[in-house]
Amino acid sequence: MIISPSAKNICSTCGVRYGTSIIPTICEICADDRQYPGFNGQVWTSYNELATKSTIRFSRLLSTVYDLRITPAFAIAQKAHLVLSSSGNILWDCVPFIDDQTIAFIRSLGGISAIAISHPHYYSLMQDWATAFDCPIYLHASDREWIRDPGGYIELWDGPAKKLWDNISIIHVAGHFPGSTVLHLPDHGRAGCLLTGDSIYVAPSRRHMSFMYSYPNHIPLPKKDIDFIYERVHPLPFDAMYGAFEWMNIAEGARTIFERSISRHLSIY
Ligand SMILES: [Zn+2]
Ligand SMILES: [Zn+2]
Repeated sequence: MIISPSAKNICSTCGVRYGTSIIPTICEICADDRQYPGFNGQVWTSYNELATKSTIRFSRLLSTVYDLRITPAFAIAQKAHLVLSSSGNILWDCVPFIDDQTIAFIRSLGGISAIAISHPHYYSLMQDWATAFDCPIYLHASDREWIRDPGGYIELWDGPAKKLWDNISIIHVAGHFPGSTVLHLPDHGRAGCLLTGDSIYVAPSRRHMSFMYSYPNHIPLPKKDIDFIYERVHPLPFDAMYGAFEWMNIAEGARTIFERSISRHLSIY
């Protein structure tokens, strides 16, 4: 069941849905320095409007990891990832649409036991996803001020890491947002896998990674934030990395690229 499907409460630029009683004139997430308001001004849309033209497309990245995205592309156009694991599947990040076909497909793979979201740009329709699969949404407590669609499924966590199951952990790396996180899958792929949202941004060449306060507005992070990301990510075993956008797939060698990219950033300061 979709929550208030006819309400115009989804921001067309970032895809975040607001609780219907608190829709502002301008989307506060887009008004922040890390985003931007739509070029045609603020536009709100409804689930019902999206449903007339949207589907969700899945691609298989690894035997145990799918990515999924809205087609045609909407708002930020991020992809989310479905991680299959014996003790429970995990949805990493979220997209601002869901439909019966998607729910049926995911149920055929065992459903979803938890949703974890890297940062507020991808909060999207998290409450509908959680309702469909009756599962918690894990958000880092440092970003609590950006929650615009509160509800009973949200579980805030704090600290450097949240262990889930089957050796899977959410790792707090901060930087882009105070509560930015990555998902670490040490037993997936050839030698471990990191799902990074845009906490770590895989460049189109896939030979470089970037770490920024704002990607669309090109606002860099201070050195201390890059050091913090390195401190949190360097100890993790991984060889594959999958980020939030279509090109951000590194099937092997991601560790080397990460180390080299950190060194290059730090050499500037
Ligand atoms: Zn917005
Ligand atoms: Zn972002």
